[in-house]
Amino acid sequence: MADTPLDLTLDAAELTARLVDLPSESGSEKPLADAVESALRALPHLTVDRYGNNVVARTDLGRAERVILAGHLDTVPIADNVPSRLDEDGVLWGCGTCDMKAGVAVQLRIAATVPAPNRDLTFVFYDNEEVAADLNGLGHVAAAHPDWLRGDFAVLLEPSDGQVEGGCQGTLRVLLRTTGERAHSARGWMGSNAVHAAAPILARLAAYEPRRPVIDGLEYREGLNAVRVEGGVAGNVIPDECVVTVNFRYAPDRSEQEALEHVREVFDGCGVAGFEVDDHSGAALPGLSHPAAAAFIEAVGGTPQPKFGWTDVSRFAALGIPAVNYGPGNPHLAHRRDERVEVAKVLAGEERLRAWLTA
Ligand SMILES: [Zn+2]
Repeated sequence: MADTPLDLTLDAAELTARLVDLPSESGSEKPLADAVESALRALPHLTVDRYGNNVVARTDLGRAERVILAGHLDTVPIADNVPSRLDEDGVLWGCGTCDMKAGVAVQLRIAATVPAPNRDLTFVFYDNEEVAADLNGLGHVAAAHPDWLRGDFAVLLEPSDGQVEGGCQGTLRVLLRTTGERAHSARGWMGSNAVHAAAPILARLAAYEPRRPVIDGLEYREGLNAVRVEGGVAGNVIPDECVVTVNFRYAPDRSEQEALEHVREVFDGCGVAGFEVDDHSGAALPGLSHPAAAAFIEAVGGTPQPKFGWTDVSRFAALGIPAVNYGPGNPHLAHRRDERVEVAKVLAGEERLRAWLTA
């Protein structure tokens, strides 16, 4: 399989089918990374680098701006949905069609067919996006070879239904601990109930009014929610500990530090005995006012939308590079057994990017 050549003269939809038929569940991207690398090395206008199963290719034409087109090579586990299947309505079915081999196919087509773009281009193909953040290939490249990711603007070709999605919300998870004193529940007055002590925390959550800030013209929606409650020792014991896990999804006008301080303030006076950060990924500003981003939005059309989930655009934001999601495929079909993409939308995505980069 490592020798499977990728034919970049196929159109983006046919190429999507070939990519789907080269399985690449997270952790087993090597054959696909090999195929992508050798297809790109055959293109004389690109310089190609590789780090692990991450492939970076770029033009070096001395243009005033450099744009990054990025996509992950991996998919979630296959669910009896490989090889791909094209139906009579022009819909391509299979694992990764939508998330995000259609986007990868568009990247490859632009790499192959736009040898003299109006902006220098960097193509990034990376592994392990669908698994734990510390395995993420884009993160690995950013840490080991930050110079490979220089650029003025980045487009992640994740499925966004052909809409530009700007920035992304941050996500903070904290464990709020309350304590008490164990006792036999037949003599409950001798103890102190830690689950009851969590009541003020839950009341604060229920009364919380999330913000809906508008940033760069996009309305974000924050949320502060309990996502787990753990407490209890046995059916006849007054519990001495309760942990409420709270997830704060926050808009990109808050820094990580500000988000953390806000959550501390919300639960001030609730009798919290322990406050522990379990997980924290910062938000990314949409950066739509950056000239390169504005030109992109004008070229591809439509009304930009905010991104509520956390995505790799914030890895670019951390490098100081404004980034958006823009790819064919309906994001609601990602990770499903009936994952699919409309061929027409893949071809349209390729054409819009080509028009922007050759205008
Ligand atoms: Zn994806």
